[in-house]
Amino acid sequence: MTLVRVRLANPSEIVTKTFPEHIRKFYFQHAKKSFEIINSEKIQKILDEILNSEEISREKIYDVRIMIFPPILDPHYTSGMINHDLGQISIFPIFSYSGEVIIPDCLLNFENEDLIFVITVHIFNTLVHEILHLKYDNEEIIEKKTEEYAARMCKKLGFV
Ligand SMILES: [Zn+2]
Repeated sequence: MTLVRVRLANPSEIVTKTFPEHIRKFYFQHAKKSFEIINSEKIQKILDEILNSEEISREKIYDVRIMIFPPILDPHYTSGMINHDLGQISIFPIFSYSGEVIIPDCLLNFENEDLIFVITVHIFNTLVHEILHLKYDNEEIIEKKTEEYAARMCKKLGFV
């Protein structure tokens, strides 16, 4: 089984300094958790199955990086991005930032199952969406397929 290798991005000092310390800590924890989830054997197996059934070559995916911080200057906040020339997929955190991150207190614990569920669905859907862009252009088809794969993933992981 060839793994879809995912790494943590390396934010510049300038970007890092934009965020207050406690927010920085939150996003680093969030990224670490996302990294753990997406590199888990179960998720990697599901990604492998998707690539096989869609007949998408792993060669096309050169680099997948989990961005630590959300793009604060971008008004069109997207959760993922693909650069076809570089074969690079970037995944942004689920929680955006506009002066503060608004997260219910009960979700602040990264061992909280609800939070793990939310992060898993976010990172999985974003990655699958961008991977499907390697084959399809039509957003509607991509959305529909992503939803189907996400439902299957939730079932396999025992979320539903
Ligand atoms: Zn898209």
